[in-house]
Formats: sequence, structure tokens, C-alpha cells
Amino acid sequence: MTSRLDQARRIVVKIGSALLVEGQQGHLRRAWLNALADDLAALRHDGHEVLIVTSGAIAIGRRHLGLASGPLRLEESQAAAACGQIRLAHAYQEALGRHEIGVAQVLLTLDDTEGRRRYLNALSTLNTLLRLGAVPVVNENDTVATGEIRFGDNDRLAARVAMMASADALVLLSDIDGLYDQDPRKAPDAKLIPEVTAITPEIIAMGGKAPAGDSSGGMETKLIAAQIATRAGCDMVIADGRIEHPLQAIRNGSACTWFTADENPAGARKRWIAGSLKAAGTLTVDDGALAALERGRSLLPAGVTAVDGRFERGDAVLVKGPDGQEIGRGLVAYSCDDARTIAGHKSGEIEGLLGYRGREELIHRDDLVMS
Ligand code: GLU
Repeated sequence: MTSRLDQARRIVVKIGSALLVEGQQGHLRRAWLNALADDLAALRHDGHEVLIVTSGAIAIGRRHLGLASGPLRLEESQAAAACGQIRLAHAYQEALGRHEIGVAQVLLTLDDTEGRRRYLNALSTLNTLLRLGAVPVVNENDTVATGEIRFGDNDRLAARVAMMASADALVLLSDIDGLYDQDPRKAPDAKLIPEVTAITPEIIAMGGKAPAGDSSGGMETKLIAAQIATRAGCDMVIADGRIEHPLQAIRNGSACTWFTADENPAGARKRWIAGSLKAAGTLTVDDGALAALERGRSLLPAGVTAVDGRFERGDAVLVKGPDGQEIGRGLVAYSCDDARTIAGHKSGEIEGLLGYRGREELIHRDDLVMS
């Protein structure tokens, strides 16, 4: 039997501070990271795309700045993150460099990914990196985060990255091998649940509250992550990351908990575009564009006859046919001002008109849902 992980095309792997950084000392566990990099290289070799979401910046940085153990003030966490992030990124670069794999640092705030707003920019960057063969190494941009930096935030961030990137699988490497029906630290007969097909109140109750300590967000944030991921059509697995070669272990069928999604990421994304976004404007298209859209093509600026409303790149807009009937909706790749400038023009003219080389499509077919 092949593991679900083997069936996923695009995989996000989330790595927590506790796995990567040794206790209070703030030392990086290089042997472990190298073994993980071997697993990532093996996945890529077998045709999977991989993205990493990693914590550890604060844990590494605090040692270098000589901050005492114990809780940090927000500005101290941010300073530690600024110092640690550079080392963290470098560690991945070295570990994956052993396999001649390039890495690229992507710092996001939860805001960038919230409800997928502003997601278009981040998404095109991630897609471009993957196309060019680099592994995106994502962390929260802690130095500009306005809220308290909470351990466990990266579980949510990873789920949002998985959603944004339409990943098929999200792996949360943890200090526990999955979800148990009772707290395994208190109940010796607690049983691991191998598969969760719906995140019911009973399942949430099994997660309990986050344990004390600063190494893990606990099960609660992982279940929130599972909700975000599975709604976006992405399967999620909680697996033991403490062992060496944790991804290989999942592929070999070792114990873990899979949260399965009912639909695929493309379907979930289209449902999101069709259902839950308020349209900020309207693009009216000519007959030629209408026919092309009906054949499943993207919307090019050349076929647009009118641009109404005020919108930014990434906002949802309605698409109307020449008779004013709504024919679909999608996420627009240009602001309303730029869209007005390029409407009716060939894609090759975009650079001359706007002074920069943007997308060829006004709405890419992956971002378009026909009514
Ligand atoms: N972004 C934080 C860091 O890199 C960690 C957040 C988390 O552990 O969830 O140190």
C-alpha cells in the first residue's frame, strides 16, 4: 500500500522549534536536519513538490543575543526572530544544498494569508520558486507581527500556506505521533486515531488544551490547522518528528494521524471563489472572450470592454458578457486602474502601457469560476 503522502503532488512540511533546536542552549540539531533534508530530496526525486514552513527563529536567536531563559517581551521575541531567522534559513540552505537543492526564504504574516486576501502575490512567488526548482522555506515575519508571537502560530501559518498553494498534503511534524482519544501523558491506555474524516466536536475535545512549555502549540492549534487544510481540500497528517527520517517513516506506513479532505484543492478553491467572496468590481467582455472563457481559457485584457468598480490585485470581480449577464467570477491579477489601462489591449502591450511586466491574463483560468 502506498502512503497518502506518496499520492500527494504538492506537499507542505511544517517543522516546529522543538525538533530543530536543542533545549535552552539554542543549538541547531544539524544531524536531524540533514536526515530531514534527505527525506525532502527523496520526495522531490519521486516527483513531489515540497514547501517548508519552519519555526525556530526565536529559539535560535535568543541564545545569540544572550537573552535569559523565560518568557520574552514582544520586542525581545522580535529581536530574537530577526537574529535567528538568518541562521535558520542558512541551516536549511546548507542541509538541502548537500542535495544541490536551492532554498528561498519567504516571510509571511498571518495577515498576508488571512482569508486568502493578498494571496495572489505570495502564491505567484511560491509557484515561481517551485517551477524554478527551489524549496520555499516559510516562516512568520515575526519582526513585523503586531500580535503576541505565539508558539503554535506556525501550525496555522502552515495550513494557510497549504491552502494558498493548493497543496494536496500538509505534514505537521510534532513531538507526538498523532491524535489520541485521551491525553497519552495521563492515560496509559490512550489510543492513537489513524484517520479522521471529519473534525467533529468529539475530535476537538480529544485535542484538549496546549500543554505548558514553549516548544509546541499543542494539539489545539494542530486541529485548527486541520480544519483550515481539509476545508481547502488538503489532507493533513500529524506525525512524530523526533525520529530521524520522519517523512520516510510516514511513507513507510508508521503510526500517525491523517485528517482527510473530502474534495481536491482545485475544487475547494473554486468553491471559495464562487461562494464566499464579495465581488469588488465587474469586467465586461466581448463575444470573442466569452467564447474563449466557455472553452476554459483565461481572460486576457484584449477581450475586456469595460471595467467597473474599485478593486486591488487579488480581489474578486464579476465577469459579465456583452449583454450584461453574469457569466462567472474570478480573482483579478491587476488593480482597477491598471485593468482600465490595459483593457482592450494585447497582452504583449502590457509592459509598454503600465511600465512593468505583469501577468498576461487579467484573470487566470485557475482563478476563474464560470456560473
Ligand atoms: N515563528 C516563530 C519562530 O520561528 C515560531 C512560531 C511557532 O512555533 O509556531 O521562532
